Amino acid sequence: MIKDFFNLIFPRCCLACGQALIRQERLLCTYCHARLPITNYHLAADNPLMLRFYGKVKVNEVFSYLKFIKGGITQKVLHSIKYDNYPELGQLLGRWFACELIRMGKLNDVDLIVPVPLHKSRRRKRGYNQSEYVAKGFATACKIPCSNRVLARIAKSTSQAKKKDRLERWQNVHNIFAVKQPELVSGKHILVIDDVLTTGATLEACAHPLLEAGCTTVSFATLAVAI
Ligand SMILES: [Zn+2]
Repeated sequence: MIKDFFNLIFPRCCLACGQALIRQERLLCTYCHARLPITNYHLAADNPLMLRFYGKVKVNEVFSYLKFIKGGITQKVLHSIKYDNYPELGQLLGRWFACELIRMGKLNDVDLIVPVPLHKSRRRKRGYNQSEYVAKGFATACKIPCSNRVLARIAKSTSQAKKKDRLERWQNVHNIFAVKQPELVSGKHILVIDDVLTTGATLEACAHPLLEAGCTTVSFATLAVAI
């Protein structure tokens, strides 16, 4: 029974391919780990992710770990994290990504990590906020403070996935975030963390109130980017 309970927390099958995990593997098998479609955009001299925010919000850096392609491994991974009750996988991937960014000297000036909040009714329904887990993975790896009390989602949006274009997505999230404790952000470089980057409307909607509250610099990091 103890073993069954343990398997529930740490499944003994790979969450991406379903193969049995061997002893030292956790959540993902070595094969799936090796075939994760890493973007490596953070290594590019001209990071293409910055384009999504040009003329919309002043952002210092944008990092996304995995390429999201419909039907691909990243979709399976995100599904496990968001809908199958395995947020620990988000934490693990967040830690791996942060380790890579640290190695490249990309997180040196970040003062505070802030996950994109879920509306409390959605959080209650799901039982957790997957972005908080990703942020926790980042914070553990880079030893930078992380707070889920900085930003609040003050209005409920409908699912961004159902919105067809950028304007609809922007209207859906515009003005739905607020800074709860401005004293925590004033003068700081904040790294906002989300699970997936699509048009960037959600992250942009988080950045505006942070900048208005006195934070000096905003950067974004996501586990995946829709390409
Ligand atoms: Zn696998």
